[in-house]
Amino acid sequence: MTQKPHTLTSHEDVSHDSLDGLGYDWNWVANPSIKPRYPFKVYLPQTTQDVIEVIKEVNQLRQELRIRSRGHSSNDLVLTDGAVLLTEKLDQLIELNEAGKTVTVQAGFVLARLDKYLGERGYGLPVIGDHSDITAGGFASVGGFSPASLSYGMFVDNIAALEYVNWDGELIRCSKTENRDEFYRVITGTGQYGVIVTLTLNIMSIDKERTILELERTFYKNVDDFIEATRRFVHDPPPPADALMERIQWIDLPTPGGNITFGQLSTYKETSQTGWKALRNTVEFGYLHGLGRWAGQLPDKIDQLVKMLGTAGVMLAPRYSSIKNVETLTDKVLDASVGDPTRWLAVISPVDEYEVIFRELYRLCLEYRNRHEALTLIALYVKALRSEYLDNLVPGKRFCELLLYLNVNTRAMTEELTESLVSRIDDLCIEHGAFRYMHTKTVKDPQRRRLIDPNAAYNREDSAVHDPKEVQA
Ligand SMILES: Cc1cc2nc3c(=O)[nH]c(=O)nc-3n(C[C@H](O)[C@H](O)[C@H](O)COP(=O)(O)OP(=O)(O)OC[C@H]3O[C@@H](n4cnc5c(N)ncnc54)[C@H](O)[C@@H]3O)c2cc1C
Repeated sequence: MTQKPHTLTSHEDVSHDSLDGLGYDWNWVANPSIKPRYPFKVYLPQTTQDVIEVIKEVNQLRQELRIRSRGHSSNDLVLTDGAVLLTEKLDQLIELNEAGKTVTVQAGFVLARLDKYLGERGYGLPVIGDHSDITAGGFASVGGFSPASLSYGMFVDNIAALEYVNWDGELIRCSKTENRDEFYRVITGTGQYGVIVTLTLNIMSIDKERTILELERTFYKNVDDFIEATRRFVHDPPPPADALMERIQWIDLPTPGGNITFGQLSTYKETSQTGWKALRNTVEFGYLHGLGRWAGQLPDKIDQLVKMLGTAGVMLAPRYSSIKNVETLTDKVLDASVGDPTRWLAVISPVDEYEVIFRELYRLCLEYRNRHEALTLIALYVKALRSEYLDNLVPGKRFCELLLYLNVNTRAMTEELTESLVSRIDDLCIEHGAFRYMHTKTVKDPQRRRLIDPNAAYNREDSAVHDPKEVQA
């Protein structure tokens, strides 16, 4: 009998390329009893020519093809009963161009591995996900945020060029200046337009492991004070000299002694580099990463305690952190696959609507917790952003990200209830001109989906990005 991935104790133990894993996406972390949906046929291309052959074959056979990187999305994007193309073996580094400060990789290249390779040569990716298995093609197909998005935008802002094979089997090269429409069609496209085969990414000179940043943090007990401070922050973020990276959270944790609620707004700025700060980074993160490593290996009750300590560790993050430790803090300390099942739902909100959307999301979550007992921990993560991609999404509007990190009581949180929560969040977005981060669960109805998908906004006939002159103006 085969073992289902959700029976594994910790995300660290999940084999991302197991056959069993192909029946699931990240939904299994929110709903461990979800039924697998296995593909009938799997393609494992290694080269661009292989991808062209795959597309020719599925066209001949009139089959639908899904593209799957490592299945970290939770919106049914990589699941099918038909044919799936895995990018697993599209994992070669093609060129490091030190003079042009770019690196070119095949789309299945795992970004953490790439950043390590670059780090050994004095470079790094400006924006990278916090998790060690996300691929270049998968991140490009959803957008890509990090604590450094405050300074460097989204991952897609840092793509210099890409090549993809469209559904007619043609190889197309595009960038912001060459085949611009194609470029904006494909980035954040969740695999709708064809297979991205290579990406050329901007890199920067940086030592992420050894450069220590200093944290400045304000705590908030009262949610109104938190919303007011964070509203000002997302509206008018400080310049990179004052805040290179950020971490903002509101947390509402039920405990036997009552609910613990508080928020924190942390910014990380450059500081003088001393041995003492480096030592504190090593020791304090050694403890936090130890929690993350042990999570999932212990008896249930102790595991819950470790998870609570991890949550506290994220909220009370050390004062001195290497850039790498800021980038990976949440994932390395809090294994989302340990403890109560976890659901992520993310909104890309206009900064002008931030307050109303924050309040409404929080109110909805409290309703699902108080009335339906379907949620336990409610955490809202906020990101202020400087992103060319988002700035051009709707002329005159700027955006920030709001991520709900919810622990789920699976006995109460039925599929219907999950869908009703998602549907209400999507309605809220439609009402306030917000978008969803499409790797997290959204409604399925294509018409409503078009209204909340940033990629669809870019691909509307009247979209400003189709005219480079307008964008530059
Ligand atoms: C533990 C964890 C931590 C995360 N941390 C972050 C984070 O810090 N920041 C953030 O922004 N997101 C984060 N995410 C979300 C993550 O970025 C998305 O799940 C993203 O989709 C990348 O995952 P993947 O490479 O496994 O892609 P998949 O989930 O396999 O694919 C995602 C989408 O991209 C399409 N796709 C994949 N490869 C290609 C390709 N070569 N060509 C065309 N389409 C393609 C797929 O069809 C699908 O629609 C995290 C997710 C998890 C589970």
